[in-house]
Amino acid sequence: MNQNICPSCQQDLEWQEGKYHCGCCSTTFIKKAFCPDCEAELDKLQACGAASYFCNSCNELKSKSRVRIIFEQA
Ligand SMILES: [Zn+2]
Ligand SMILES: [Zn+2]
Repeated sequence: MNQNICPSCQQDLEWQEGKYHCGCCSTTFIKKAFCPDCEAELDKLQACGAASYFCNSCNELKSKSRVRIIFEQA
C-alpha cells in the first residue's frame, strides 16, 4: 500500500531526487513527521532498513504507526 499521496489531488507521489513529486500538480513535496504527543518535528532514523522516528523534545523514539506524516510543498 502506497501511503505517499498528494495532499491536493490524492494521486500517488513519485520519489524523485530525494523528494516526492506529483506529476499531476507539477509540485514537489517534502515528507515531514510530527510527534503525536508534543507536535514537534521528528528526526527520521534509518536502523536495520526500518525507519523509525525520534522526538528531540520528548527524547524518545516514536512508533511509525503513531507519527503524523505531512507532505509540505517544497
Ligand atoms: Zn497532486
Ligand atoms: Zn514529542
